[in-house]
Amino acid sequence: MAAPSHQATYDAIVIGAGIQGSFTAYHLAQRHKNTLLLEQFVLPHSRGSSHGQSRIIRSAYPQAAYARMMPDSFHLWQQLEAEAGTSLYRRTGLVVLGPPDDPELEGCRRNLGANHVLDAATLTQRFPGLRLPAGEVAVWDGTGGVLLAQRALRAVQDVFRRRGGTLRDGEKVLRIEPGVEVTVTTTAGVYRAPRLVIAAGAWTGALLAPLGLHLPLQPLRIDVCYWREKELGSLGAGSLSPCFIAVGLRQTPHGIYGLPSIEYPGLVKVCHHHGSPVDPEERDRVPPGTPHPDIALLSSFISCYLPGLETSPAVVETCLYTNTPDEDFILDRHPKFSNIIIGAGFSGHGFKLAPVVGKLLCELSLGEEPSHSTAPFAISRFPGALRAPL
Ligand SMILES: Cc1cc2nc3c(=O)[nH]c(=O)nc-3n(C[C@H](O)[C@H](O)[C@H](O)COP(=O)(O)OP(=O)(O)OC[C@H]3O[C@@H](n4cnc5c(N)ncnc54)[C@H](O)[C@@H]3O)c2cc1C
Repeated sequence: MAAPSHQATYDAIVIGAGIQGSFTAYHLAQRHKNTLLLEQFVLPHSRGSSHGQSRIIRSAYPQAAYARMMPDSFHLWQQLEAEAGTSLYRRTGLVVLGPPDDPELEGCRRNLGANHVLDAATLTQRFPGLRLPAGEVAVWDGTGGVLLAQRALRAVQDVFRRRGGTLRDGEKVLRIEPGVEVTVTTTAGVYRAPRLVIAAGAWTGALLAPLGLHLPLQPLRIDVCYWREKELGSLGAGSLSPCFIAVGLRQTPHGIYGLPSIEYPGLVKVCHHHGSPVDPEERDRVPPGTPHPDIALLSSFISCYLPGLETSPAVVETCLYTNTPDEDFILDRHPKFSNIIIGAGFSGHGFKLAPVVGKLLCELSLGEEPSHSTAPFAISRFPGALRAPL
């Protein structure tokens, strides 16, 4: 028997209940828009980019556009904590490690202002688990810390529903028909709204191609690695040790980052900020015997910078990045259908900024001037993206 088909009209529809779509829906509901948030998988799920327990939040950003958005983001995270009555942020501090002349490190130092540089001796004194190779320095960001990711996703969706929003999970969007009212057909219904936001993570390309838009979005499979402390607590397990980002490494242009032990006692998360190109539908189809260059790279990094950790990961999980060529976000209208708004290409650094991203996508969908400039995130930086629909 065919499933009953739902039909309804809303003020706004958002596709994708990851952190970006959920925050967009939350802001729309706050603006009293009757909003439908659609998710293809039953929630919670681990197929996208927003699952797992931890994400880094920091003020230290080399690019001024992101650095300027961070105070607003910290404020909005606090607001969500208050609304949801739960704590979502653990302050640990963060160090950016690298050669003093590295442009990313220098950019972070410049945007943080004042004197935030620690030399190797001071770093080792404060954080005995971290070793700096000769000649490298550390930039200290006291606001850095960990967002409790899964809890945050749940919180923003709960508040959205409390504000009267409708979240329908296990319902995949199959077709989008543009128009003054956009029609969205899913596996269970047909919905209409004068505005649509697409925040579909690694699946965004598949939804946009039939609308004639071919953005250079590359899904990457990321090995999320957890490394055991040789002696439990030697790195100051819990909130005592900082998050870190290592840049300017000889072995990789993409950087390596780490978070203190949070999800698993005695296991520290250390990952390469890059991965292997993948079809999100086939994420785990890795032929047996395939080498894991990221894990080899991380082992060698750990022997040098984190000698208190074992050099084979105890646990490896999987996550997806969706990268743009310049690793900057896409936050813009569809160039032909101005009531279809796109948030994509978060390139492995979008979680911390999700409250602001959601606000900007909400403002764009309401035809308002965005509260931060979206010029760096425009689709026009990819000439040729707009082609004839399939
Ligand atoms: C290992 C890892 C570590 C990271 N670390 C950090 C960090 O430390 N700090 C930081 O700021 N960021 C970090 N990030 C990045 C951050 O997590 C992502 O930028 C963010 O989660 C992206 O969210 P999203 O909503 O765009 O995507 P997703 O979470 O993937 O959400 C998109 C949703 O759309 C749904 N969807 C897709 N197609 C359809 C359809 N047709 N119909 C209905 N639903 C659909 C998907 O199922 C999915 O749930 C990390 C990411 C990874 C993978």
